[in-house]
Amino acid sequence: MDDLVELTTERLRTTPPTCVRGFRLTPTELPVTYDDDCKSVWRLACDCGEERGRVLGYPLHDYNPTYDGPECYLSPLGFECSCCGKVTEIIDTDIHGYHSEVAKIEGGIGSVKSRGEGPRRPFSCLACGAQLFVVTVSFVYWPAAFDLLEEPELPILEFFNEFLSYGRCVACGEVSALTNFGKL
Ligand SMILES: [Zn+2]
Ligand SMILES: [Zn+2]
Repeated sequence: MDDLVELTTERLRTTPPTCVRGFRLTPTELPVTYDDDCKSVWRLACDCGEERGRVLGYPLHDYNPTYDGPECYLSPLGFECSCCGKVTEIIDTDIHGYHSEVAKIEGGIGSVKSRGEGPRRPFSCLACGAQLFVVTVSFVYWPAAFDLLEEPELPILEFFNEFLSYGRCVACGEVSALTNFGKL
């Protein structure tokens, strides 16, 4: 079993879940310090190779007027390439992550997470307002995810407990957290 845990940890750290497989992915490090849970971290690039783009989604302030933290976005989240204009989907919390996977097992769809609808808006740098970013995403697996090893038919890779995303502003270099979904 310990071998299996070790092998699985290595696989989860080195394999992206399906939601971001539309991108060219480069393994990287988080731009912030975070906890020690098992995670994979990826820098996104459009399939044309370009890493700079706009992040499309839904401002949390529009959906939760009592939220008074720094701007962050709800999903579905997309990336619009600055070179070829193609939009590639990053994540939809109704389809991706731990609770959505559990819902699929139970024959449903959706999650407990708020989610945006309608036209999306580009995220603006919290420091300078510019809209082009190089984006890093991370999928975090809590120790409880390893309980799934007792049910090998389940795709453990898709049962990530947290999703993190950060944009490094192309104009000023400041890093903004793009999302704050909490536990998925
Ligand atoms: Zn492109
Ligand atoms: Zn900026």
